[in-house]
Amino acid sequence: MHHARPLPAYLVNRYHGWKATVYTENRGWYRRLAEDGQHPRSMVISCCDSRVHVTSIFGADQGEFFIHRNIANLVPPFNPDGHHHGTSAAVEYAITGLKVAHLIVLGHSGCGGVEGCYNMCSGKAPELEEASSFVGRWMDILRPGFADLPDGDDASRKQALEKASVVISLENLMTFPFINAAVESERLSIHGLWNDIGEGSLEGYDPKTGQFKPL
Ligand SMILES: [Zn+2]
Repeated sequence: MHHARPLPAYLVNRYHGWKATVYTENRGWYRRLAEDGQHPRSMVISCCDSRVHVTSIFGADQGEFFIHRNIANLVPPFNPDGHHHGTSAAVEYAITGLKVAHLIVLGHSGCGGVEGCYNMCSGKAPELEEASSFVGRWMDILRPGFADLPDGDDASRKQALEKASVVISLENLMTFPFINAAVESERLSIHGLWNDIGEGSLEGYDPKTGQFKPL
């Protein structure tokens, strides 16, 4: 592999700053993390979006959350077809290996992936319909959510689709036999959240009403 290049200086400098301060002041704690292994209580599935910052929202430290990020925080249905399934692999390890007690799907406002799905399903993004589009084929997971959107303006319908990405992911999680069994035996609870980035607000999915309400 001769294509890799050294890190840009600004990242090297930031790293040395962290090593000299945060790391040095907490060296014992980092050593213990390394020796004890990880025992996170929760797994979080969130979007790749750089503004979604789950550890900040919950004030979480290293070792607390097992985090998987993908475009639009989606979980595909259980499909053991022998192909590459990064999200399903992360979920499998969290539940059967780490035995986390909580599995949280976190959606967010202004999600570009969800907007792409919205445009694709509206016929405005033919490039996403191509078989070769990784984003388009990934967003197929959310297609059923578009069909169920209420009437309204584009902004409110996109936000409803962001929340549908959370609910569909929760539904798909339950198609995994090891998740279904863990939920039924109360070893695991699953949770749906949606984060308004500009407002800093967090809404939780209420299965009784099928709606999200502020925490
Ligand atoms: Zn997003």
